[in-house]
Amino acid sequence: MKKPPKPSHDHAIAYHEAGHAVLAHFLQVRTVEVSIVADGSGRDGYTRHHASQMRALDATARAIISLGGMAAQKLYCPRFSDDRGGEDDERDAYDAVGHLARTRRETRVLLNCLGECARALLSKPRLWRAVKAVAEALLAKKTLTGKEVDGIIRKASRKR
Ligand SMILES: [Zn+2]
Repeated sequence: MKKPPKPSHDHAIAYHEAGHAVLAHFLQVRTVEVSIVADGSGRDGYTRHHASQMRALDATARAIISLGGMAAQKLYCPRFSDDRGGEDDERDAYDAVGHLARTRRETRVLLNCLGECARALLSKPRLWRAVKAVAEALLAKKTLTGKEVDGIIRKASRKR
């Protein structure tokens, strides 16, 4: 039997970044720019959020946005094993909620729970439609402004 084709690296990155952007939108944090062009820092893509809105957010909500990248990537393709970028996101999530845990085990459990939260939110049909729409736009245009992302998410969320 033929194996299904491997999803491209670009697709994985596009879904990853779309996951961050859609969860940020859901939690009312504006996205400034999303891209699947490497930014030179070793990441293959990036999502820039409105910094002060992000800081004002509850720590767990911030962590959910950070973990939303890998959650979207894994929902898109569970077999895709490349989780570069996931490590940076985990560190960001840890920076946000690390102070809530007393032991490494507690930290692990907390991060796993928040990762599951991100996954559950993105699995909602309305949010997943938005992720798909942003990912497709990213694959076509490589970089999107916050305004473009906003428009795409609003349009995708309205569709039935
Ligand atoms: Zn990420």
